[in-house]
Amino acid sequence: MTSVLDRFLRYVQYDTRSDDGSTSVPSTPGQLVFQRDLVAELRAIGLEDAAVDGNGYVTATIPSTTKKAVPAIGFIAHVDTSPEMPGADVKPIVHAKYDGRDLVLPDDPTAVLRLADFAALADQIGHDLVTASGTTLLGADDKAGVAEIVTAAEYLMSHPEIPHGVVRVGFTPDEEIGRGANHFDVARFGCVCAYTLDGGSRGELEFESFSADLMTLTFHGFNTHPGYAKGKMINAIKIAADFIQRLPHERLSPETTDGHEGFVHPYVQQSGVDRTVVKLIIRDFDTSGLAVKEALVAGLAHDAVAASPGSRVDVAIDEQYRNMRAVLDKHPEVVACAQEAIRRCGLTVVTRSIRGGTDGSRLSFMGLPTPNLFAGEHNFHSRLEWISRQDMEKAVDVIVAVCRVWEERSAL
Ligand SMILES: [Zn+2]
Repeated sequence: MTSVLDRFLRYVQYDTRSDDGSTSVPSTPGQLVFQRDLVAELRAIGLEDAAVDGNGYVTATIPSTTKKAVPAIGFIAHVDTSPEMPGADVKPIVHAKYDGRDLVLPDDPTAVLRLADFAALADQIGHDLVTASGTTLLGADDKAGVAEIVTAAEYLMSHPEIPHGVVRVGFTPDEEIGRGANHFDVARFGCVCAYTLDGGSRGELEFESFSADLMTLTFHGFNTHPGYAKGKMINAIKIAADFIQRLPHERLSPETTDGHEGFVHPYVQQSGVDRTVVKLIIRDFDTSGLAVKEALVAGLAHDAVAASPGSRVDVAIDEQYRNMRAVLDKHPEVVACAQEAIRRCGLTVVTRSIRGGTDGSRLSFMGLPTPNLFAGEHNFHSRLEWISRQDMEKAVDVIVAVCRVWEERSAL
């Protein structure tokens, strides 16, 4: 058996940074290199049908060990790392027996992991922590999930006495650029549900995500030579600025909300006198709350236009993803089995709402209910990313326990 730590230390050295400027599938060739090596490793463990498909998705099957009619379940992790941070030449460092000391990352002495800055470190005393060396991300998001799933697969293959149904594993590219579910073949995967391993602290289980829309406001003005513009020019940049000023500041913003509150967030503006486009993301846990926020935004845009006679605004709304809870509430056994498995591993179940989306948000609506389990990741997309060996081992235990619980709860 290869330990989950050894596997993880090996995986983070693959450069699998995804690229949202690329149109290829997967977006970067490094992901395919890693995926092909994963297939070889899964075959070596004994998973006979391990394969990578034409879009760079890896799947494999752990055969059933029971006579019971257990529905097939899946475990999914993504192989890419965030395009926001360098992901090549990652040099993982194991800091043994963490005692609360400052962890100074050697390649940049200003990169220091301090207990005072990160409350989650208080739960890690005595654990072995892994970081990068200060100039790159670590890639625990989500190579921890990959390492945990492969390690659990090896454990189940070498312990056929553990009763479980068919278990499928899936490794996806391009999650960090929002394309992870795009080419996922749910029908071929053939599972009643799946669990992504892509969460934070041990014990966490996430089955609620934002519902998300994109709003595009196009303000139309009128451009003419500025030397002779009196009484003629209508500057769309100024109308858009007026609109931005009218947005609520003390509420409904990313800067002023947390927990279960949603927001409206202008994040891109393409400016011109004749035409200025403002893009906003709209977020709410309650899908019906999106329309309320969109009506507010559209109303403010129309107020800004009304203050500049002769201008107008076009409003377009595009659906991005929906709160997976709407699907998971119809399949309560999916979350219940995960909760039971986490408790069995001696952990307290911590339920969190994801203030964003996961591949699971999309997959759930594609017919594969997919909550998110903890993988032990912390400081996502940062050079101060860290993870503990002990949390990864717990995640492996939880995967095995989920398989057992599904078997126990199935009929003969
Ligand atoms: Zn992730």
